[in-house]
Amino acid sequence: MNDYEIEFGKILEWLKKNSAKKILVQAPDGLKKILRLISEKLEEEGYEAYLSGSHAWGGCDIAVNEARTMGIDTILHVGHHGFVGARTTEVRVLFVPVYYLGEFNDALVNALEDIKRNSFKKITLGVTVELHRRLHEIENLALKSGFHVETGSLENITGLIIGCNYVSLRDAEAVLIVAGGRFHALGAALWMGRPVWRVDPYLKSYEKVDVRPIISRRLRDISSAMDAHSFLVVVSTKTGQARPVLAQSIKKRLLRENRKADIVVIDEISEDVLLNFGHYDAYVNTACPRLTIDDPDIFPGPVINPGELKYVLGKKLEGYDSRDLFRFDFSIGA
Ligand code: SF4
Repeated sequence: MNDYEIEFGKILEWLKKNSAKKILVQAPDGLKKILRLISEKLEEEGYEAYLSGSHAWGGCDIAVNEARTMGIDTILHVGHHGFVGARTTEVRVLFVPVYYLGEFNDALVNALEDIKRNSFKKITLGVTVELHRRLHEIENLALKSGFHVETGSLENITGLIIGCNYVSLRDAEAVLIVAGGRFHALGAALWMGRPVWRVDPYLKSYEKVDVRPIISRRLRDISSAMDAHSFLVVVSTKTGQARPVLAQSIKKRLLRENRKADIVVIDEISEDVLLNFGHYDAYVNTACPRLTIDDPDIFPGPVINPGELKYVLGKKLEGYDSRDLFRFDFSIGA
């Protein structure tokens, strides 16, 4: 934990101000090891603390049901920046970022040199919340290396990107993402349609990402769905992923096109659960858009996101825009 910073002072101040008593501490799988540390501190301060054992995929996935079952009044949601999708009012939620303090300068310098070798001069920067405080350091290094740097913001947090939202990235010749793993960089490449380099601050490595396999899979699934007669529209019950109205509109639209369509409601969408619904020709995923991008094989057949439905109904792939993976409006041009 030496490379990470959690602002315990601020957490305790907030809990006191909000008269918290029973607290559920929730974190993504990669950070679950710090739950004990946090709950110990809370218990020292006289709070009743519980650990959430469920996945916490993002700010869209707040453990409201666990809190309700245990009579909990407050959730500390660790590792994400804030609500994604709908907000939860049933229980108080404090988002607790964990800031990364480790060194990754060499990987960053190498990535910038590689971008320069490719003759790009104007770049846009994106970081995940745990690196948000390092943004100026990254930006300064890029400026010193001679780049013109553009950085926008998401919910007033400069440079912040999350797996399903890249609006903070600005128009540029190339994109630099600093985040653990490939997940965010792949999303940035699909959103921007520009060359994307990623620096992994934990592995101290860099690479240029390649989304061509994802795009060809998307085109293949959309083509297969064009001939589908029966569709299963998948809805998640997760707080910020539930889109029942959208699912109903998609179903109605499919019925109007003389296709068959059902809606299935699932808490944790997984291959096991979907296998029970393997008798549909194609699937429309209204939950986390990344399932379609990163885990399409958990669906028993071709899967599309709502923004891709227009290609299926229009029966054409020309002009396919991978930004549509992140859009929930399926009516344009359909
Ligand atoms: S990418 Fe998926 S899991 Fe992550 S915040 Fe967005 S909807 Fe949630």
